[in-house]
Amino acid sequence: MTKYTPTIGLEIHIELKTKHKMFCECLNDPEEKRPNLNICPICLAHPGVLPKPNKEAMEKVLQLGLALNCHLSDIAKFDRKNYFYPDLPKGYQISQYDKPFCQNGYLEISDIKEGVYQFKKIPIRRIHLEEDTARLIHEGGSSFVDFNRAGIPLAELVTEPEIHSAKEARRFCEELHLIIKYLDIGDADMEKGEMRCEVNISIAANELGDSSKVLGTKVEIKNLNSFRAVEEAIKYEIERQTEMLEKGEKVIQETRGWDEKEKKTTSQRIKEEAHDYRYFPEPDLKPIKTAEVFPLDDLQRAIPELPNDKRLRFLKEYGLKAQEVEELVYEPQMADYFEKVIMELDGLKSTEGKEREERIKLAYNYLSTDLKALMIQNACGIESLKITPHSFAILIDFLDKKMISSAVGKAVLAEVFESGANPEVVIKEKNLLQVFDTAEIDEIAKLVINQNPQAVADFKKGKVNALQFLAGQVMKESKGRFNPQLVQERIKNLLTN
Ligand code: ADP
Ligand code: ZN
Ligand code: MG
Repeated sequence: MTKYTPTIGLEIHIELKTKHKMFCECLNDPEEKRPNLNICPICLAHPGVLPKPNKEAMEKVLQLGLALNCHLSDIAKFDRKNYFYPDLPKGYQISQYDKPFCQNGYLEISDIKEGVYQFKKIPIRRIHLEEDTARLIHEGGSSFVDFNRAGIPLAELVTEPEIHSAKEARRFCEELHLIIKYLDIGDADMEKGEMRCEVNISIAANELGDSSKVLGTKVEIKNLNSFRAVEEAIKYEIERQTEMLEKGEKVIQETRGWDEKEKKTTSQRIKEEAHDYRYFPEPDLKPIKTAEVFPLDDLQRAIPELPNDKRLRFLKEYGLKAQEVEELVYEPQMADYFEKVIMELDGLKSTEGKEREERIKLAYNYLSTDLKALMIQNACGIESLKITPHSFAILIDFLDKKMISSAVGKAVLAEVFESGANPEVVIKEKNLLQVFDTAEIDEIAKLVINQNPQAVADFKKGKVNALQFLAGQVMKESKGRFNPQLVQERIKNLLTN
């Protein structure tokens, strides 16, 4: 029996969000639609010009390296990577060869299995800094070059070939994207090409029991414009290569492109031999003594709590389910708001154990469903919320203490969302406290019973819906103030006695 093991390694380019380009003072503005506006003699490679490295870009790649547990090189060096292509004005790209800024790190991907987080470390070989190429535009039989992108700082991350499924590769890209967002070093929009993932994939065919780690011939896939495309292309390629091996055919080393419409990869170019880029040290740039120029303390200070730390802390501190934590991890501003609410909630009433967990759960539910729905309806971002964490906590406290019903809770939330008023004032002024007084409930219940003889008859025939209907009418009359359980009880009581 032969066992087919897929192996995947990723090469990911990330455009860094800096004020200027990598080696000149031109603006780094990916939104600039007018071609050839952000250009100068340096990024156009006029003779005699000198590059000057961008400190902000170097700082950002080092922050990324720290966040990904890399060793930061004491000395980093720029090299020329020589090749000819019309998008490369100098005929070489300034990149890094043997002394990249960051080496030997890892990214820990996560997955939720049966409600429990599973983590896995994927080793990273290196992260280096280079300059982006110009953009080629092919139109009506002609080709144009837009140099706005030429020289934009680009971080290139290379993983070890130690990913073994399409899902894992997708999770790596998603998690890297999230970390870039947390660090605020790039927008990394894959559809805009701000983050570009190239996938290398091979299949090892081993006899069962043979544990040798010899990898198969790798194929490189390009044109992956979304996380979904990364996953689908790998799945497709695993099947294609496995089928070839099963038929006794050989996989050839080549570059393939992902066809989004046909959902398949097609051959782009066959690599007969390794490229010779004739790398050599960039003579116009001195090696960078990173520790001197970028003190570790300063770098570390700029790094916020990272997604995995947030995951573990939220699980432990708030007792939320992994799936709930995950939602907040993807919306860090919402997570901050949530944490402020819990702090206020603890301030209103000090609780612990199960009791505290229930209050937190209540707050989470109102936040993730009702508040979020209001925000979407009103196209309101978290930064323009009128309801403060303090007000939100007061509302949750009223709900938790059963002083208002959930129907009232939702109505008050909507009102406070609009006006920014204090929920306590709204509840008191409008007399919305929940009513547990049976005499008051009976009074309305009797009215409703008299007005709905058909429902009463249905109830007596044993139709459960009839009771729901009557209770609903009573609740409506009370404007949501009556305790709903008590309402059902009282109606039953009035109809059966
Ligand atoms: P090359 O010299 O052809 O560029 P590298 O060793 O530099 O190859 O690796 C480039 C990328 O390909 C890395 O992401 C690495 O993890 C991946 N890779 C290398 N060999 C394989 C293989 N046999 N199968 C899958 N991925 C591989
Ligand atoms: Zn320039
Ligand atoms: Mg390589």
